Amino acid sequence: MADIIKLLPDHVANQIAAGEVVQRPASVVKELLENAIDAGATAIKLIIKDGGKSLIQVVDNGVGMSATDARLSFERHATSKIKSAEDLFNLNTKGFRGEALASIAAIARVDLQTKTADEEIGTAIQIEGSEIKSQEVVVTPQGTSLAVKHLFFNIPARRNFLKSDSVELRHITDEFHRVALAHPSIAFNYYNNGSELFNLPQSNFRQRIVNIFGKKANEKLVPVEEETQVVKVSGFICKSEFAKKSRGEQYFFVNNRFIKSHYLHYAVLAAFEGLIKPGMHPGYFLNLEVDPSSIDINIHPTKTEIKFDDEQTLYAILRSTIKHSLGQFNVAPTLDFEHDSNLQTPYGYKDKNAVLPKVTVDSTFNPFAEETKVASRSSPKSSTSSFSSYKKPSTQSWESLYVETPSREDRSSDFGNLSFESEVSTKSIFDGSDDDLDTAAITFQLKRKYIVTTIKSGMVVIDQGRAHQRVLYEKFLKTVTLNEGLSQQLLFPIQLSFSLSEIDILNEIKDNLTTMGFVFGEISESVVEINGIPPMVAEAEVGSIFDELMADCQQNVGADGFSQADVLSKALCKSLAVKTGDVLDKLSQAALVNDLFACTESMVSPFNRPIYVTITENDIDKKFI
Ligand code: ADP
Ligand code: MG
Repeated sequence: MADIIKLLPDHVANQIAAGEVVQRPASVVKELLENAIDAGATAIKLIIKDGGKSLIQVVDNGVGMSATDARLSFERHATSKIKSAEDLFNLNTKGFRGEALASIAAIARVDLQTKTADEEIGTAIQIEGSEIKSQEVVVTPQGTSLAVKHLFFNIPARRNFLKSDSVELRHITDEFHRVALAHPSIAFNYYNNGSELFNLPQSNFRQRIVNIFGKKANEKLVPVEEETQVVKVSGFICKSEFAKKSRGEQYFFVNNRFIKSHYLHYAVLAAFEGLIKPGMHPGYFLNLEVDPSSIDINIHPTKTEIKFDDEQTLYAILRSTIKHSLGQFNVAPTLDFEHDSNLQTPYGYKDKNAVLPKVTVDSTFNPFAEETKVASRSSPKSSTSSFSSYKKPSTQSWESLYVETPSREDRSSDFGNLSFESEVSTKSIFDGSDDDLDTAAITFQLKRKYIVTTIKSGMVVIDQGRAHQRVLYEKFLKTVTLNEGLSQQLLFPIQLSFSLSEIDILNEIKDNLTTMGFVFGEISESVVEINGIPPMVAEAEVGSIFDELMADCQQNVGADGFSQADVLSKALCKSLAVKTGDVLDKLSQAALVNDLFACTESMVSPFNRPIYVTITENDIDKKFI
């Protein structure tokens, strides 16, 4: 048989390599910023157009390149950073693979201008799809400017795969944050479509965090400092009362490089154990300095994962260092545990202590009177508590939920009129006919999680959280579509602070939120004023709702108005719906069941999970055989 193996032409090999290095505009940004840092720049400019699809440009004042180096830099495996394999174990630079520029040049049009300190004139090179189009001498300041235009111009499939400009921009901003945080001593400017997003002067780490995340960040930060033989830890953690629903502000830097490490993340979580609720995330900005030979950063092409020689020791050091900081800076005592013995136990155990309501057919018996008291006792006593966003069962929101149902006119606000014979309960579960419905139907709550009720053929067990999500979801979607959201004016406007990128998101989703009943006042660089909220939202919860909304929207919001309404409705229903553990009184249970079966789709939650199961008399009979 004839020989069939051929070497791939360089430009094809480069395109394939590009697939690994460049997933989206943000990956280009990362590579270019890192090259600028490796070149010893003290000031770096990042210029973006159209989410990086039209232009990504990085201008630095670093060492620059000679004409020969400029040309060579686009060759694969061309690097000035390592000379032998041994160097790999003692890396102090970001790059070392010599792949980035070759890969980027294979899938974009690249304009390079560069000059070293000791040369009079610089070099300009244009390259497109790995092909050098021109090389000239040029007058340019010391340093390097690299402009990447029309990313993926020759790979339409990849280009089509890119998300909307705003989503891509968000990824770029995330990348920018990581690099800028890792290098506070370098000044950064970041422009998008001609306007300046960030202007970060040279500063210390704390100032850099504040410059990026806004002034409100300052009061949150608790310093962390520890030096051992294995590692030097420095940086900040955020006080536990500022824990967020989103995982946004969590940064590990190892030797000035942003890394992801689940293992170390858990070390931080372990230090916060008992101080924050499950589902909430502490913020942290932690620098670890280790001997470069004790880590292997070579395991991932985009170099955000890292392997430590002695992970267990790092874990232990990190955990105790953070615990120490939390204690030393008196963070824990600000939580007011005193008057609630329930909260003495870690959150994970809270549910286990719940007193189960007795199930009984005696309709006058109300097993929840006791428990409602318990629940409201665990609500915050002071606004400094980190539990201020803890959701207490809110009967007020339940009333409004009920009042808002389509048939509210016939029912008036008299809850005594509630019954299962309402015209809305005609779904298949009731065997298609109202008569089938057991009119004496009683509901009870099982394990603070399910609502159980009877139907002619047996019983239904409804997941209370999912059912409420479905009800709220349809309601929100309807108000957006029909533009009929009701709003409740606030006596005192609520002011919420956000980071710049969150403000960006907010501006995008504002219109839809307005149709849902939120009324916005002034939106400044970092503060948003809210003058009105939908009736089913409790004022105290607005902060945490927006937190969660931001987290959900970070990746999901597209330009398309319809899908945006869907994302928002989902996000809102998730944060507003009752949860497992919430006690519902009889009226709320009945209203929920009614509203659920008035929904267009009552079988599955907005997140595609089953809402209820039916157990027929037959099923039960079988158990007794
Ligand atoms: P690596 O960074 O892994 O070495 P790259 O493909 O990113 O590989 O860059 C190739 C080489 O080009 C670098 O090793 C460096 O010598 C040179 N280079 C790239 N960007 C710059 C820059 N902004 N300033 C000076 N030299 C640069
Ligand atoms: Mg590089």
